[in-house]
Amino acid sequence: MIATKEPAPETKPDEPRDLIDTSKMSSGQRAALEMTEAARETSREGTFASKLFMGDFDLAGIRPYPLQSTEDRDQGDAFLQQLEKLLREKVDPDEIDRTGEIPQSVIDALAKLGAFGIKISPDYGGLGLSQTNYCRAAALLGGFCGNLTALISAHQSIGVPQPLILFGTEEQKRKYLPRVAKGEISAFALTESGVGSDPATVQTHAEPIEDGNTFILNGDKLWCTNGTKAGVLVVMAKTPPKVVRGKSKDQITAFIVETDWPGVEVTHRCRFMGLKALYNAVVKFTNVRVPRENILLAEGKGLRVALSTLNTGRLTLPAACLGLSKRCLEISRKWAASRVQWGAPIGKHAAIADKLARMAASTFAIESMTWLAASRVDHDKHADVRLEAAMCKMWGSEQAWEIANDAVQIRGGRGYETAASLKARGEEPIPVERFLRDCRINTIFEGSSEIMRLFIAREALDPHLKVSGAVLNSKFPMGERLKAAVKAAGFYAAWYPKQWLPLEFFKIRSASRIQNRASSILVRHLRYASRMSRKLGRSLFHAMVRNGPKLERQQLLLARFVEIGTEIFAITASCLRAERLLETASEKNDDVLATVDYFCRGSRLRIEERFRAIGRNNDKACSVGCPCSADVGELSLHGSVRSVLHRNPLVD
Ligand SMILES: Cc1cc2nc3c(=O)[nH]c(=O)nc-3n(C[C@H](O)[C@H](O)[C@H](O)COP(=O)(O)OP(=O)(O)OC[C@H]3O[C@@H](n4cnc5c(N)ncnc54)[C@H](O)[C@@H]3O)c2cc1C
Repeated sequence: MIATKEPAPETKPDEPRDLIDTSKMSSGQRAALEMTEAARETSREGTFASKLFMGDFDLAGIRPYPLQSTEDRDQGDAFLQQLEKLLREKVDPDEIDRTGEIPQSVIDALAKLGAFGIKISPDYGGLGLSQTNYCRAAALLGGFCGNLTALISAHQSIGVPQPLILFGTEEQKRKYLPRVAKGEISAFALTESGVGSDPATVQTHAEPIEDGNTFILNGDKLWCTNGTKAGVLVVMAKTPPKVVRGKSKDQITAFIVETDWPGVEVTHRCRFMGLKALYNAVVKFTNVRVPRENILLAEGKGLRVALSTLNTGRLTLPAACLGLSKRCLEISRKWAASRVQWGAPIGKHAAIADKLARMAASTFAIESMTWLAASRVDHDKHADVRLEAAMCKMWGSEQAWEIANDAVQIRGGRGYETAASLKARGEEPIPVERFLRDCRINTIFEGSSEIMRLFIAREALDPHLKVSGAVLNSKFPMGERLKAAVKAAGFYAAWYPKQWLPLEFFKIRSASRIQNRASSILVRHLRYASRMSRKLGRSLFHAMVRNGPKLERQQLLLARFVEIGTEIFAITASCLRAERLLETASEKNDDVLATVDYFCRGSRLRIEERFRAIGRNNDKACSVGCPCSADVGELSLHGSVRSVLHRNPLVD
């Protein structure tokens, strides 16, 4: 490939992409980091979740909790009622699971209803519903059939509609949006056999010909959901590198590719542990001619397209997890009330009651977090919900897995038995084993849990990096670093003492329109969240001072900060939503209050455990499981165990 030249921009220490010291990284690590940094959206003014990590517990804009407007709710209801009717009357999710196929009649009926164009504007043939209503549809599907959820959401959240709505030219929108809104299925193709979490190593490539008016696309894409049914794909491919600041930089470009073009071929349909009817494909591209006008956003901006698409696209998954969690809770409650063992309904035994309480509390929290983030997108189409959406995705998918697992446990042997087998011997065909299988993938795709923690940690560290990144970056000249150090010292001299001031007592007041007892419980939890946010800001700062640039590589330590921040977000969203529900309820709602109180108490224990583990953990010993040390021979693995035992592994 021939590199094209671009004028070298002047290096400024406070440019985000220069804030991380990459000088001691391997070339692969550096390439991956530089590419994602370049594609990263830079924050405008910070959001509730990002400010949390700086000890700034800022409720402006989220208190009162934004409930859906009646008009928007009515619009959503009209569609959801039809969707629910269709699911009830025309869809058998267990049959779909058993056969591994979604009947074409179901796909056609969904298309007729407009389910493939929920968020697409009516100007382009869609329903033009809000993000909240789209998430409500995902929740409805999520509690019914994972295969349909994946079909609809891969099409709309990551397939052609979302990136086209965000970045398409008017010409592209006119050409493709009416087609996909009507039901032409679309898909998103990034993953390759060597490209999973790290997109920098994409091998599929597109070479410009005919003065750059056409690209010739070659390569293989793996695990492309909807790939076997899709008429149109978003394909991420490498295009010729550019020279930036004297260095050749790889470029990734997003192309809209039609599957009936010569050279596009589905070579394999992948099958999985769950989601048995996923139309997931290996797609091969051989000398496919793609016109330049099918580039999304611009040449070299593919990763930006993918990351921005996922920022809101990622909200679909926690919404679907919410639907699944509600269904599991409903099944478990019913069973726990009717199944009698050892002289009492199993729900009366503390071990099962505890599970039910946790399921209900986590479900309420997933819902509160997801609707809060979705409402911000409805309020402002360009709202920065990167952190909130990532937290919802990471936390929601992990909790949903726990909830499905608990549902299997509560159903006992029947939880492990398939719906078909239950039915054949005359019992109600309750499909919790299907839910468990189907929801396992949620912590892996659309950003695995581990990658979500890194992503959130990067955003959490951003304000600190902006202030002090240049001080720690050995790439900068000493004079520059000293100047930055003086600036940083000024900032922290003002910021740090504030992190010790318990101002929440004055800042967070009771909501006046609800009962005193309810109000005082919720305010107590909100003040706790605010206090923990200050502690989080301080602890993150201490970790930066202790670890310097190495902090960026301390995944286990960073994960604890991320988990604390996410729990604080969950407590806050739950309390604010409860406050609003109690304010608007015609009668007092003790269930909501009890659920939120239970959730916050559990969350406090998790937060405290994470803070404790920052200073007292087993992190250094984790190399015992590393295959790299086993590689060097048994002795080294045993040696490392021995040295771990002789050191005190519990002290960081
Ligand atoms: C059912 C299914 C549907 C899918 N649909 C699509 C689709 O429509 N389009 C598409 O493009 N892709 C799709 N994918 C791909 C999916 O997004 C990837 O599986 C996911 O990105 C993870 O990549 P990987 O499986 O290669 O895991 P790897 O990247 O190899 O990771 C393996 C493990 O290591 C962890 N890990 C990786 N890097 C790090 C790190 N730096 N630090 C800590 N931990 C790390 C991961 O979290 C994971 O636990 C799908 C996959 C499946 C299974």
